[in-house]
Amino acid sequence: METIQDFRGLQYPFTTDPILRHAYDANNVEYATSSYQIDHDMFPGLIAFPQNDDDIQKAVKYAKDNGYPISVMSGGHQYSGACSTHGKGIQLNLKLTYKGPQDLVMLPQLPAPNGNKPLVYVSVSQSLGEFNQFLQDRQLFVPHGQCTDVRLGGHAQTGGYGQLGRSFGLLGDHIWGIRMINHDGKIQEVTKASNAELFYAILGGSPGNFGVITHYTIEAHRDADHDFPEIGPRPHGFKGVWLYRDTVLKLLLNEVAAMADDPEFPRNFDLCVSVVSSSFTMLKLIPELKDNMAEILQRIAEAVGVNGDTKFPACIVLYAQWVPMNAEDKYTDKVDEWFQRFRNLDSFFKYWCIHAAEPIEPVSKMTSEWLFAAPREFDHPYEKRCYMTNSTTLVQDKWVDQVADQIHQVLTPSLSHLALWKNCFLSVQIQCFGGKYSQFYANRNNGTSYSWRNSTVCQVLDCFYKDGEEGKALAKGWQAENDKLMCGENSRFSKQDKRVLWASYGDWDMDKSWPFYYECQAKYERIGRQRGLADPRGTFTPNPFSVKAVKD
Ligand SMILES: Cc1cc2nc3c(=O)[nH]c(=O)nc-3n(C[C@H](O)[C@H](O)[C@H](O)COP(=O)(O)OP(=O)(O)OC[C@H]3O[C@@H](n4cnc5c(N)ncnc54)[C@H](O)[C@@H]3O)c2cc1C
Repeated sequence: METIQDFRGLQYPFTTDPILRHAYDANNVEYATSSYQIDHDMFPGLIAFPQNDDDIQKAVKYAKDNGYPISVMSGGHQYSGACSTHGKGIQLNLKLTYKGPQDLVMLPQLPAPNGNKPLVYVSVSQSLGEFNQFLQDRQLFVPHGQCTDVRLGGHAQTGGYGQLGRSFGLLGDHIWGIRMINHDGKIQEVTKASNAELFYAILGGSPGNFGVITHYTIEAHRDADHDFPEIGPRPHGFKGVWLYRDTVLKLLLNEVAAMADDPEFPRNFDLCVSVVSSSFTMLKLIPELKDNMAEILQRIAEAVGVNGDTKFPACIVLYAQWVPMNAEDKYTDKVDEWFQRFRNLDSFFKYWCIHAAEPIEPVSKMTSEWLFAAPREFDHPYEKRCYMTNSTTLVQDKWVDQVADQIHQVLTPSLSHLALWKNCFLSVQIQCFGGKYSQFYANRNNGTSYSWRNSTVCQVLDCFYKDGEEGKALAKGWQAENDKLMCGENSRFSKQDKRVLWASYGDWDMDKSWPFYYECQAKYERIGRQRGLADPRGTFTPNPFSVKAVKD
């Protein structure tokens, strides 16, 4: 493909010339490259790094004139590779485009009724780590996901699911405005007031397929509204790490299940349990382990009988949090009992607990406790799964035993599953989102289209595998078993296979797989109509993972 004329940023056309190909390959890397580069044909005809609005406008005109589609990439974390395209498409890489001082600033407050919320103007190129730090420096916060390397560009469109999901909802619930460059190369400002349908479709509908978003305007929360050091309630966290043991895992997952089963569970609480295989980059998840390394290695050595000079063994990580919603909220004995159950695990399983901390600090600081500071969990290809459920009978149905047994197969060497243990690495995250006071649920009709808002639990089971056919077959087989157990009429977890756009997997032809991602056909077509208007020539349809455009 020819390069774009008068474009100021760097451009890399696809080539078979070995020297030029080296540079192309070095710039053709996303999270999904490891798993889908060949299967999903992730070899764009041209990779272009725009420097500014003008470059993007030139690229859109060039694509329109030549009938090429554009895929937009901000951080490159899309699990199916949807930020990429094929040989007749252009990838616009915005990782470094909007990184000036004007691309992350506070704005004057809006007039009422939104007037009481601080407003942040942030570009798509900012990472969650940078955004979190900016807010923390100003004693502000918003809910968002865990990985510091993820960019706002895709994250806002796919939701931004994170530790504050029950207490404050999704990042996407906090978006007030979207600035983008549309199919005509024009700058368009989209708010709920200016274009409610397009706003709805962009926030949760079909990431990357409406235009090139450059910035978001986001409403933030103030620490001062949720932390009252002088008069009483303060945000309270619990962060624990146990060496993997199925008994500990079952106890913790039963806490998640019990919370999800109780529709009255107050809004203040959030709970997430993670499990990671050995050789996980644990210090990127719990950096404070470094402060006490000698003792921790000693504990590991005593508990699992290995020389502490090895990589981290498999671990369970618990994030628990209680946040006051106003000055009248009380940190009661009942709240403390909830945390006490996790403290008890520390003493009861003392050989297995390698870290337990209870931060009491402003929410903006607390949010940084829940970050993961590496771009990926394991340097291997993966077979991903993410299951949502609206069940409120998880304890009674004994779902925990099933999922814990599945995890155990991979994490513990046994005669029956030795190959699985040798070849596969897990990164599991199971979080409660349910209850009628949960803001994930309460925000369901706020003008965004994120699906499955009545979910009570989100269960992420990612299986990485040693490159090669054996590892791939083992990971696929393990996930096929999970599919049988976790979705379907007889499942203890969910009667329906419900997926979310942030954690996609499986068939990426959206026109076939949409029933997994959207509640009903009417919703799929409602988003499709906005696709038809926003993308009349298919400029923003770079791959099959796009809602089908409906043209009336
Ligand atoms: C290690 C890891 C951890 C994660 N943890 C979480 C988590 O805790 N919570 C959570 O909710 N999600 C999480 N995710 C998923 C992540 O939030 C989504 O994949 C998100 O969409 C990534 O955005 P991105 O810009 O970094 O990636 P990209 O791959 O660049 O973009 C994702 C999608 O958005 C589109 N897009 C990106 N930028 C633009 C733009 N400027 N204009 C128009 N369209 C654009 C792309 O075309 C693509 O379809 C995680 C992903 C990874 C890999």
